[in-house]
Amino acid sequence: MEQVRKEVFSSLLPWFKKHRRKMPWRSNRTPYRVWISELMLQQTRVDQVTPYFNRFIKQFPSLRALAKASQEDVLKQWEGLGYYSRARNLHKAAQLISTQRGGRFPRTFDELLALPGVGPYTAAAIGSLAFNLDLAVVDGNVIRVLSRLFAYDEMVQRSVAKKQFQSVADFLLPQGSAGDYNEAMMELGATVCAPKNPKCTHCPMANICLAFKQGNPTGFPVKKPRKKVPHLVVGAAVVVNDAGDFLIAQRREKEMLGGLWEFPGGKQEAGETIQECIARELKEELDIKIEVGDFLVTVQHAYSHFTMELHTYFAKIISGQPRPIECQDFKWVNPGNLRRFPYSKADLYIIDELEKQEKT
Ligand code: SF4
Repeated sequence: MEQVRKEVFSSLLPWFKKHRRKMPWRSNRTPYRVWISELMLQQTRVDQVTPYFNRFIKQFPSLRALAKASQEDVLKQWEGLGYYSRARNLHKAAQLISTQRGGRFPRTFDELLALPGVGPYTAAAIGSLAFNLDLAVVDGNVIRVLSRLFAYDEMVQRSVAKKQFQSVADFLLPQGSAGDYNEAMMELGATVCAPKNPKCTHCPMANICLAFKQGNPTGFPVKKPRKKVPHLVVGAAVVVNDAGDFLIAQRREKEMLGGLWEFPGGKQEAGETIQECIARELKEELDIKIEVGDFLVTVQHAYSHFTMELHTYFAKIISGQPRPIECQDFKWVNPGNLRRFPYSKADLYIIDELEKQEKT
């Protein structure tokens, strides 16, 4: 272990100095920018995050600007990035820092951990990168690198394994250089010690890497086999009124994709056709009876814990006035204004299709 620590200092940090990639949040490093980037980077790749980060910072250049924004505006900037609770928590935390801390950004691990949406990983990342606190981060990249360096042959998802990786990362951390160390480990995992084709011959840690010595780097980390994710069939309606406006509904805050807008609908139940599903869902969600008309589009989409095929049809109301029963709110929206609201990716595909049809 001591040898690995020496190698971190003598090889990994110099390698990082030379090879660190340019990222917008690495320049002008303020706690606010670090915080936004760390939340965006959870479960998301750097290349996907970069345009979102630039756009978000342009729209909300300071914590104060973010705190003053509406949740809908924040979700709009996050649209398409997924895991929307991150955006809602970011917004809540900005308001909390403004009102309860006079705009002073938290500076200790415990203060950071108290923010909505900040767990031990994010608190350590912000603490080390923004305030140079001696805190080691352990994410998927770090686990992969460490499990290979030590040829760790137990399953990495066990809670005991997570604690072991944290202790090892804490031990390897060179005091006073936590920010560089954390970024170097994550950069190594993202660019050299890749999941499928690690570039061991270019790796600064190859000298002391046990997985490399065993000739089996991709044998680590050892993981539980993935469970097959369920596949859902979902129906949605583009309800059009006499003025040509579309009916959209806002998902409830506590649900998945909470706060986002959508074309109303839901999961198909056993024994019903997709048209019956759509009619039932709109009765339950908005208390309206509809007639389901022409088919619009089927969207295939994968979430982390299920896959979905979303069948979309045009519809019109035959009785009742919409009421938000199983949704937070609803609106009739002119087609030209549809994109003003935040949607999930699946609903954005439906809007793309509507716009295509309008052009033809
Ligand atoms: Fe990863 Fe290969 Fe480097 Fe070991 S030598 S840390 S397996 S890239």
